[in-house]
Amino acid sequence: MAAENIPYKIYLSEEELPRTWYNVRADMKNKPAPLLNPATGQPMGYDDLRPVFCDELIRQELDNDTREIPIPTEIRDFYKMYRPAPLVRAYCLEKKLQTPAKIYYKFEGNNTSGSHKLNSAIAQAYYAKQQGLKGVTTETGAGQWGTALSMACAYLGLDCKVYMVKCSYEQKPFRREVMRVYGASVTPSPSTTTQVGRRILAEHPGTTGSLGCAISEAVEVATTTPGYRYVLGSVLNQVLLHQSIIGVEAKTALDKYGVKPDIIIGCAGGGSNLGGLISPFMGQKLRGEADYRFIAVEPASCPSFTRGKFAYDFCDTGMVCPLAKMYTLGSNFIPSANHAGGLRYHGMSPVLAQLYHDGLMEAVAVEQTKVFEAAEQFARVEGILPAPESSHAIRVAIDEALRCKETGEAKTILFGLTGTGYFDMVAYEKFHDGQMTDTIPTDAELEASFAKLPRVPGQE
Ligand SMILES: *Cc1c(COP(=O)(O)O)cnc(C)c1O
Repeated sequence: MAAENIPYKIYLSEEELPRTWYNVRADMKNKPAPLLNPATGQPMGYDDLRPVFCDELIRQELDNDTREIPIPTEIRDFYKMYRPAPLVRAYCLEKKLQTPAKIYYKFEGNNTSGSHKLNSAIAQAYYAKQQGLKGVTTETGAGQWGTALSMACAYLGLDCKVYMVKCSYEQKPFRREVMRVYGASVTPSPSTTTQVGRRILAEHPGTTGSLGCAISEAVEVATTTPGYRYVLGSVLNQVLLHQSIIGVEAKTALDKYGVKPDIIIGCAGGGSNLGGLISPFMGQKLRGEADYRFIAVEPASCPSFTRGKFAYDFCDTGMVCPLAKMYTLGSNFIPSANHAGGLRYHGMSPVLAQLYHDGLMEAVAVEQTKVFEAAEQFARVEGILPAPESSHAIRVAIDEALRCKETGEAKTILFGLTGTGYFDMVAYEKFHDGQMTDTIPTDAELEASFAKLPRVPGQE
């Protein structure tokens, strides 16, 4: 079909909302490495994980074989409130860049949480409810995941306890209030409400917290409060599975118009939106049916893929969580305080880590000032005010489109626009006032962090 016939927005009907999630692990020859028990170094099975996670979610976490997993009707009905999400042809951006490239983006910011995180939040809350639990605990950094989970819990009548990284709690009071609108209790982390919080406060008085520390607190509360489990918004296999709805919808929309992307780009924090977006396309690549270039974009100040180690590491600071094999900067790594652009987790999804390790995916690191330049360029022509996280993908999509302009190639680029940036205006303000800098960790700093990686048999 001729390019002119493609609308600005490709909407799918409610009927076309996917009925199954796609589990890319089923098509991977090298499966992601299992989670290990930090005390014994042994792989963790279903029974080992039950005190922490919901039963059905553990089954999904461990299932490396089932290709299609049905989306329960109740979750699908919730999805219908804000999905299918539009796939947008960025005609205005293409024109502005004067590129022959064809640019598409999948927009996930069309819900109150402002990001794709709601896709997994509703699934996780649903399985908790189905198990008869009273509530769930979690951590949140910038606040998107906490907001998404609060919304899902409110809908299903579950209690939601959120540990919010203290510096965000203080800097983003509006995020906190949104969570409270949806009935969640929000505690700044580290707090005195947990043993691990008290220990961290004693060791680091005045600390403004980190994601890894908030995770430790949330896990402790889940495992010591009857009727509660812990849920996590990224990194885990189950989260990637739920987020595959992004990719399945995008592929359905493109297939309708006979469009095949050459390059698929996504920002990578813990890897869930990128993993979800690329899943069905990666499946084709793994099965030898089609080829694509996949590009993960990460901040230069927190470069897990491009400068991290493929190794087992702790997922949290308190070292209470299972060990995961991922590209990691070390669980002690804390990105510079100057870093405003999100994506600050030290590790990366084990699924994406394996795919990257096997050469099936590329990664680039970009500096935040360049990211905000791209964000603004995009906002001014496409209208949407992007989240700083999403803008990492915009940066590289623009770079690839400009490369096409040089070579004259009319490549088709698809990128994930994960959310909106209304709660990130302090970061935009810093950018506008010329106060945004790029702090890139030195090799020595990374080596010091790697030296503290846990000792695991078979890992030097
Ligand atoms: C959380 C978040 C991300 C990064 O998380 P992933 O798990 O890597 O997808 C990206 N964009 C937005 C808007 C987010 O809220």
